[in-house]
Amino acid sequence: MVTANVSQGPSFSESFYTSLNEMANGRRIRTCLQCGTCSGVCPFGYVMDFPPSRMIAALRAGVFDKVLKSDTIWMCVSCYACTEICPSQIPLTAALMTRAKEEMLLAGKVPAELQDALESSQRYGNPLGESPRKRALWAKGIEPEITILGKAKQPVDVLWFVGDYPSYHPRVHLTSRALARVFNALGMDFGILGPEECSDGDSQRLAGERGLFELLAEKNGRAFARYEFNEIVTSDPHAFNALKHEYPALGISYPVRHYTEFLTERLDQLKPLLRKEVPARVTFHDPCYLGRANGLYEEPRALLSAIPGLKLVEMYHTRETSLCCGGGGGGMWLDGFQWKKAHTRLSEWRVREAVAAGADILAVACPYELPRFEDAAKMVKEAGQLIVKDIAELLAEAMEL
Ligand code: SF4
Ligand code: SF4
Repeated sequence: MVTANVSQGPSFSESFYTSLNEMANGRRIRTCLQCGTCSGVCPFGYVMDFPPSRMIAALRAGVFDKVLKSDTIWMCVSCYACTEICPSQIPLTAALMTRAKEEMLLAGKVPAELQDALESSQRYGNPLGESPRKRALWAKGIEPEITILGKAKQPVDVLWFVGDYPSYHPRVHLTSRALARVFNALGMDFGILGPEECSDGDSQRLAGERGLFELLAEKNGRAFARYEFNEIVTSDPHAFNALKHEYPALGISYPVRHYTEFLTERLDQLKPLLRKEVPARVTFHDPCYLGRANGLYEEPRALLSAIPGLKLVEMYHTRETSLCCGGGGGGMWLDGFQWKKAHTRLSEWRVREAVAAGADILAVACPYELPRFEDAAKMVKEAGQLIVKDIAELLAEAMEL
């Protein structure tokens, strides 16, 4: 077993090591083989001064302060690719990268666009800086009307945790409306928190703002406690990840599923409603926080395969090796910074892969991805007529809703 060089007395590296030891499986960092696989698989590893394996080498050498002098840690999009591939099963994304970002925040070394998103999250309860009062506006006009728990004051079977982008982003609204129509067609008894819902906080946590994450989680936890429901379903893999793995440590514990998981369990009920053919070659982009972080690979594909006329094709990077859209872990709020460093966008790489797979439609199941891939498709010449759609939109189309 290799240990940190602490022969010159207490150092920053030593205290950083100690803090990692306190995290789940954090001690495994000492089993690093220095194989470099993590750095090789990292989509932005080539522009990082200290990709994961070099960070660990710096930690061992007792010079971790050098890592924090570089700002390229902000190229990490928390995609879990390094964690997935590490032969020593070191929690690189959850422990090493997130702790390093926490130190950067403490030192005040934060790109301005990320700082703005964090301040908006603190002030308004969402990174877009929108008013909480507008959180349910997307649902206006849907029939039957969507139950807002604070108004209806009645128990529901399912609490739909909608999420930030599905609530506020004009393009992602369409996905929320499609999913609401699918839920209604299935006769589900569901409601939303509307103005009482705030950001799940997971991306803020992964960007190093643990305190802000806890504040947002506790606010959501208090809202959950006001109502009666049996389970939570969410349209956002980041919210799913937070509610499943992070909220329980704060005493906020409810059964939770991503909507693709929830609907797959109702395929028998759903299939007879999928009457209209969608004659297209569709490729599915595995979101990092549905796939690598939570192992849900088959459910989205089962839903797509149930649509008549649809042919599923796979991209080169698929399932465990899926290529991040670039939006996770704060990446959504670091586009300008990352463009300056890398002069490329991960979303554009992914659009090229969808084209190479011969797809007409790039299907997604994460609200970050829709606007990212649509923007990327406009920038990639060979994207031609490639369309980006959420699985919920494709289901609604096949159900003629
Ligand atoms: S992949 Fe794992 S074992 Fe290999 S260098 Fe990275 S952290 Fe170390
Ligand atoms: S989580 Fe993704 S972006 Fe971050 S270091 Fe690991 S592979 Fe690179």
